[in-house]
Amino acid sequence: MLSKLASHMIGSRESGAVCFNWTGSTTDIRTETMEIVAEERVSDHPMAINGELVQSSSGLSDPVINPATGEAFDYVPHGTREDLDRAVDAAAEAFKTWSQTPFEERAACVVKFGELVAAKADELAKALTMEQGKPLRMSQGEVGGITHQCNEMAKIGDIKSETVSEDNDAEYKLVYTPRGVIGGITPWNFPLAMAANKLIPSVTTGNTVVVKPSPYTPLSTAMIADCAVQAFPPGVMNIMTGGDELGQMMVEHPKIAQISFTGSAATGKKIMATGAATLKKVTLELGGNDPAIILPDADVSDVAPKIFGGAMMNTGQVCVAIKRVFVHESKYEEMVDAMKEQAAKALPTFGDGLEEGTRFGPINNRMQLARVSELVEDAKASGARVVAGGNTFSPNGKNGFFYEPTVLADVQEGVRIVDEEQFGPVMPLIKYTDVDDALERANATDFGLGGSVRPPCPAPKRSRVPVF
Ligand code: NAD
Repeated sequence: MLSKLASHMIGSRESGAVCFNWTGSTTDIRTETMEIVAEERVSDHPMAINGELVQSSSGLSDPVINPATGEAFDYVPHGTREDLDRAVDAAAEAFKTWSQTPFEERAACVVKFGELVAAKADELAKALTMEQGKPLRMSQGEVGGITHQCNEMAKIGDIKSETVSEDNDAEYKLVYTPRGVIGGITPWNFPLAMAANKLIPSVTTGNTVVVKPSPYTPLSTAMIADCAVQAFPPGVMNIMTGGDELGQMMVEHPKIAQISFTGSAATGKKIMATGAATLKKVTLELGGNDPAIILPDADVSDVAPKIFGGAMMNTGQVCVAIKRVFVHESKYEEMVDAMKEQAAKALPTFGDGLEEGTRFGPINNRMQLARVSELVEDAKASGARVVAGGNTFSPNGKNGFFYEPTVLADVQEGVRIVDEEQFGPVMPLIKYTDVDDALERANATDFGLGGSVRPPCPAPKRSRVPVF
């Protein structure tokens, strides 16, 4: 029987409640090939393969770009097919014993891993801010989450098989077994949290793992490779860095039993298609286009900062961020004014995440900045009223990837900024007249993930809140 445990841990529990996914076609984020060019050089942050810290077999390393400046500040190894084969072979070999290792021993390694990460928390948080852009305080929280996750996973205990039914002739059992080598592929918005969500549940439940971060944010994940090597037997936890093609190779790899992917719908579709060739189990955690509905009885002064915060956290680069706001016509102009005020207040707090007082960082990469700009220009061309923002800017005088906090009024479905996931600091405000109609429109999407209603509905109505 296939491992229900592995499926559960690698599939849903690893990322909490936000992993129901999208299956549409017009809403992909990734729009062009990235522009990271490998160079011949040694990296200070080698990969963890088979219990060793190694450079790329190609001798190449990829630059890591600081989105607050637009400049490369570090390098990670450019992993190759040969490197991947070594990592996967090692993981497959290690699986034979790791999967039979008692839970307590596995858990002790997991706790040790968490302690090693905690010991370098400050340098990790700084690197995370420099590669991703988010304020340092957010990075510190993300790093701290790894150790917390390790400690919590270590408490889950061995999951015993269950007898489902028995009669005189037979006993029917549900048996939970580890799956094998897990391949984890992660995005650039929460690189360490997402890597942890692949690494820790995999190994706790007796699988071995190979993880590859986004080429836009590979550094912090590469920096925990030494923790993996120290905490686990060789081959159990492998951490690689490389381009998109390394992800593709992982999905193609016949010895990887399951791919756990978090990222855009565009890539998710490719992974599903590629994985079919080896009948691979794939878990896809994709994008969202989460609606918020502002009811006629909303107190705008109370609701506005909450909605703004829910949309703009991490500069809008959150899968479950609010991405379209339906406002009742009776409150529409009041809400427009309130959001304009929120954006004006937020603007001076955009900056380099390492600087004191920064609440919002840049967009993570040039490709995504171009996409956000394109969606706003498209909305303008469709008649949107730009209430706030609408431009790139440079709060620090450097060539970073900053976009002003932007509020767009007089938009509706059929315009890309409403129909697609913007993944940036842009909020479209959509007017509605009838609550039931707003619910229907909020639900009329191919995306999954979240949704919210303000003020919260009384209990009997809660069942009508869109479920994604
Ligand atoms: P992306 O799809 O561009 O890249 C994600 C990863 O896939 C990267 O590591 C990349 O190198 C790799 N990759 C690219 N092409 C590949 C291929 N053909 N085969 C295998 N791997 C490949 O995503 P992104 O832009 O880094 O992340 C942003 C997206 O992630 C947003 O849509 C966001 O909503 C989503 N996201 C979802 C969740 C969730 O829990 N549902 C969480 C965070 C982010």
